[in-house]
Amino acid sequence: MISFYPGPSRVDEHLPQYMSDAYAQGILSINHRSADFMEMFRRVTSLLKERLEIPASYSVLFTSSATECWEILSQSFTGVSSYHMYNGAFGERWYTYAQRLTSVATAFPFGLEEQITAVELRTPPGSLICITQNETSNGTQVMPTTIASIKQKNPDALVAVDVTSSLGGIYLPISAADIWFASVQKCLGLPAGLGVMICSPQAVAQALASNTRTHYNSLASMLDMMEAAQTTYTPNVLAIYLLMRVMESRSSIHAVNQMIRHRYTEWVNFMKGFSNVSLLIEQESVRSSTVLLVKASENNVAEIKRAAKEEGFVLGEGYGQWKSSTFRIANFPAILDHEINALKRFLSSFLTDNL
Ligand SMILES: *Cc1c(COP(=O)(O)O)cnc(C)c1O
Repeated sequence: MISFYPGPSRVDEHLPQYMSDAYAQGILSINHRSADFMEMFRRVTSLLKERLEIPASYSVLFTSSATECWEILSQSFTGVSSYHMYNGAFGERWYTYAQRLTSVATAFPFGLEEQITAVELRTPPGSLICITQNETSNGTQVMPTTIASIKQKNPDALVAVDVTSSLGGIYLPISAADIWFASVQKCLGLPAGLGVMICSPQAVAQALASNTRTHYNSLASMLDMMEAAQTTYTPNVLAIYLLMRVMESRSSIHAVNQMIRHRYTEWVNFMKGFSNVSLLIEQESVRSSTVLLVKASENNVAEIKRAAKEEGFVLGEGYGQWKSSTFRIANFPAILDHEINALKRFLSSFLTDNL
């Protein structure tokens, strides 16, 4: 089975080797306060910085998931208003969690085919502006230049960006915002159970100044432990090790970005060849390049997914309101060219002959 589900998805092809190395090297029993762990922590952090072009002054933290990152932000910046711009289910869920935890969250929903450049938001100093860069539920994206311009207009606010289904897949201008986070089961090609959060010096300063330490993963406590190359709790050491191994063999984010853009363009052209399917998102500028939503009649969506499964391809279910009228295709780096070609051959003959 080859999983084109947009997370969890196909994992890095070298994972069997890395996992057996982890066992052989005693990584599975390593103590998270030991020198060996601290060395690994420093190495994976520096690899992430190098491969993803994270500025040296930014901090890299480990969490359990992207969902946890949503809560960490609300629980660490207490009393701070948060402004949530979203057009889909993940962004809305982030808003919902923030609203429950802080009751000072404000929603700014926008349309599916709309850029948010129109939002002339001005927020008080210290507030949190929350953006879902790649909305996995509907296959849209907020252009990184838009995020940069929001930060420019609100230099004293912290701009926090959910990049769960784009970090490691497309180039992101990390210095243009304050907080970026993702879990690893999407573009990083790993099994679920680890999150990564990247913080600017401004975000770090604000977290340390507020000094909120109510939760085991309050940002201030996490940052203190990070200084010692450790975490506040016993982390998923295996996942951190696997992330280190995957990052060792990854190309620079520019090369990965180019490959993803190329595959994306080929997918778009491919879909144009059929009258019974189309891409849900029409505006090129807001269409995600890592998660494609393909629209068809409900009957055809069910038929395509069923037949694909028989051929060994797992397609992503539609999400929320798009559940039965779309299926999703992950365009993540760990997927191999020959696997994409095989899926295209199947789709091509099925869409032509069977529907
Ligand atoms: C998958 C996803 C999440 C949730 O990730 P978890 O690892 O389940 O917490 C959050 N945001 C976006 C945009 C996602 O794609």
